[in-house]
Amino acid sequence: SPALVWFRDDLRLADNPALHAAQRSGRPLVLLYLLDEESEGIRPLGGAARWWLGRALASVTEAIEAKGGQLILRRGKAGEVVPAVAAEAKAGAIYWNRRYGAAEIAVDAALKTELAQKGLMVESFNGSLLHEPWTVKTQSGGPFKVFGPFYRNAAQHDIRRPARVGSHWHFAETPAGDELRDWKLEPTTPDWAGGLRESWIPGEDGGRAALAAFVDGGLRSYAAGRDRPDMEHTSRLSPYLRFGHLSPQQVLAAVRHAADAGEVRGTDVEKFVSELYWREFSYHLLFHFPDLAQVNFNRRFDGFEWNQDAKIERAWQRGLTGYPLIDAGMRQLWQTGWMHNRVRMVAASFLIKHALVDWRRGEVWFWDTLVDADPANNAASWQWVAGSGADAAPYFRIFNPVTQGEKFDPDGAYVRRFVPELAGLPDTSIHKPWQAPPQVLAQAGVRLGETYPHPIVDHAAARRRALERYQRIRGD
Ligand code: FAD
Repeated sequence: SPALVWFRDDLRLADNPALHAAQRSGRPLVLLYLLDEESEGIRPLGGAARWWLGRALASVTEAIEAKGGQLILRRGKAGEVVPAVAAEAKAGAIYWNRRYGAAEIAVDAALKTELAQKGLMVESFNGSLLHEPWTVKTQSGGPFKVFGPFYRNAAQHDIRRPARVGSHWHFAETPAGDELRDWKLEPTTPDWAGGLRESWIPGEDGGRAALAAFVDGGLRSYAAGRDRPDMEHTSRLSPYLRFGHLSPQQVLAAVRHAADAGEVRGTDVEKFVSELYWREFSYHLLFHFPDLAQVNFNRRFDGFEWNQDAKIERAWQRGLTGYPLIDAGMRQLWQTGWMHNRVRMVAASFLIKHALVDWRRGEVWFWDTLVDADPANNAASWQWVAGSGADAAPYFRIFNPVTQGEKFDPDGAYVRRFVPELAGLPDTSIHKPWQAPPQVLAQAGVRLGETYPHPIVDHAAARRRALERYQRIRGD
């Protein structure tokens, strides 16, 4: 009887443990992707991630068709659809790679029991992490709350060697499915996805190409260059990892191979690998603290008095705060579905500390606009910036958007790219146009308050206000 392979956040054919196990079983394959926006607690994808998914499914469908098979697309509640497809396909076994959110785990566990009772063989695998979250433990057997010890411990565990695309392609008759276009994952009116299409090639081939380009390029000066949003030193692999077009094992193997071949410096590789482990740490946190996107990890922040300031929040979303680095970042996000990590930190800090808006509101905006919107990384990072997270930045460290800009975008190239109305300003004014002499503004065609806003809050005053608010919950 056939083996049903249920694809989820693992949209790839290479190094896919569930798929390979199904192939090795010798059973004919039935391949399923299910869009589940109905099961209890499952968070629907945001707009940018839906766009990505649409493209990614088209790409994986093509890859499967090239092997002579088909990917069935179904929509609905996993608890109903998966058993139905298994029955239609007369499957004798089902394979999937694990998920780590509480709602997903509940869905999968219930299905596992039900399908096993029906006599199916059910097998699940680790397809998206270097280490299962429960295998990395403190001496007392609990979860880690600090990154350094987590990393040191995790790095001692073995890592699976990545596998190539399996060779056994034998397909069973496939039950009918939906047409991808009927899911309407891509926007039509208005079509806001032009910048996304220009920036990304979703899918396994796109991921492989991005990885190769990074190993040949950005990785070579990653440690020194990773904080520069005006340059391309980071991998931009985040959406490929998010949707599982690449496994972290494949990424790790590629960078280590380049290091072993003497093509890149050890310092660059180690810095990059530690970032991959931040992703692992986020999943470790999500697994052990399932409310990561809703509940302050440090419960003292439950008493923090957030402001509700729709005007400033809207200005932040639209990239109209009057602080060029923040505005460039927020517009990069809107146009391309991605933002450089340094600017994510500064922009998130601005919303939380300058505007005193609850970090959860920022998390939701990023969830909707990032192509790499990730249940673990997004929540853990917002909490990190807020100061409420595990091993977080201290709340009293408040980024100054001007000095951050001057340090990490020294020639203003990043700002000029995404805030073109400031492009004519000299480097000395590009991060603080309100301090530019009138004739400099005039020459650059900048009319503050008309072509570009005045700063929506004063940095020094906002900083004092945030620290004062923070004192109220310190309790010491
Ligand atoms: P690289 O520097 O090339 O890093 C390689 C990979 O390591 C990344 O693809 C990512 O998977 C992982 N990684 C890198 N930095 C981090 C980090 N700080 N935390 C966890 N994993 C990391 N990352 C997401 O993948 N999804 C999100 O939704 C997300 N939301 C964020 C929200 C905020 C407020 C902040 C400050 C950071 C967020 N990050 C998120 C983390 C980080 O900004 C991105 O992973 C990174 O910018 C992706 O670009 P890259 O692939 O070029 O990174």
